[in-house]
Amino acid sequence: MFENLSDRLGGVFDKLTKQGALNEADVATAMREVRTALLEADVSLTVARDFVDAVKEKATGQAVTKSVTPGQQVVKIVHDELIKVLAGDDAHAGALKIDSPPAPILMVGLQGSGKTTTTAKLAKRLKEREGKRVLMASLDTQRPAAMEQLGILGMQIGVDTLPIIPGQTAVQIAKRAKQQATLAGYDVYMLDTAGRLSIDETLMAEVEAVRNETKPHETILVVDGLTGQDAVNTAENFNARVGISGVVLTRMDGDGRGGAALSMRAVTGKPIKFVGLGEKMDALEEFHPERVAGRILG
Ligand code: GDP
Repeated sequence: MFENLSDRLGGVFDKLTKQGALNEADVATAMREVRTALLEADVSLTVARDFVDAVKEKATGQAVTKSVTPGQQVVKIVHDELIKVLAGDDAHAGALKIDSPPAPILMVGLQGSGKTTTTAKLAKRLKEREGKRVLMASLDTQRPAAMEQLGILGMQIGVDTLPIIPGQTAVQIAKRAKQQATLAGYDVYMLDTAGRLSIDETLMAEVEAVRNETKPHETILVVDGLTGQDAVNTAENFNARVGISGVVLTRMDGDGRGGAALSMRAVTGKPIKFVGLGEKMDALEEFHPERVAGRILG
């Protein structure tokens, strides 16, 4: 696999141990290693560059602590900065913001990202951990199989789904979900919007219309954490067009290094709320910045 950052920096700083502070030339060399490590972890180029600039400023001139090597000291600065960017200051990280019932939650993302699975995982979590009554509705009018899939998952986890009425538009289904949630006293209704293989105007216009109709308390983007730069582009696009409030990164059980998390956080400024860790309905966890920082550093 990859050489980890501590090992890389060990060599760079070997000659520096007798000096009292991290000098500029050595920090510059170290930063090239940091940049390479970030790129290998799938962090996007511009984000890696900005990140390295921030770290460089912090590291230059910093006194070398006796108890650690200069390499370890730089790794610590990088680690702390990673946590700072990944964690942000969002009060609702690791939770969904649910205001007065029935609270609409809009789920958006590309086809195959894990959107339907994540919708059901979140519904299960709301039901079990917060005792919420949840209604789920699929708005994927193009793919009857996707609608049925949500129904099947709903039965598995004991969460109701809105009955399917063929021929309705996404907005009509969203309206019906809102009515049903209000009449039947649900706390939350989750709208699983249609995915497309890539971002297109029809998809965005549809999501926008549903958003305008329901005024969601959360708009959660589901992205495949293994897709690197594509994930970042997707997040940028959805955020610019419909405005997202948070992200769920799926397939973090795979062997990706998680750099997409850093890029998305940096580019959108929106919190990563949860990570998907498998296909099972319990395979969803709150986002832990330290774990992802550890993976990025290798
Ligand atoms: P959608 O098209 O975005 O609604 O995607 P689906 O929810 O249908 O998921 C596509 C596939 O990815 C399914 O086989 C899911 O079981 C799988 N999947 C979803 N989330 C995860 C995850 O976190 N890890 C893994 N390994 N597979 C996942």
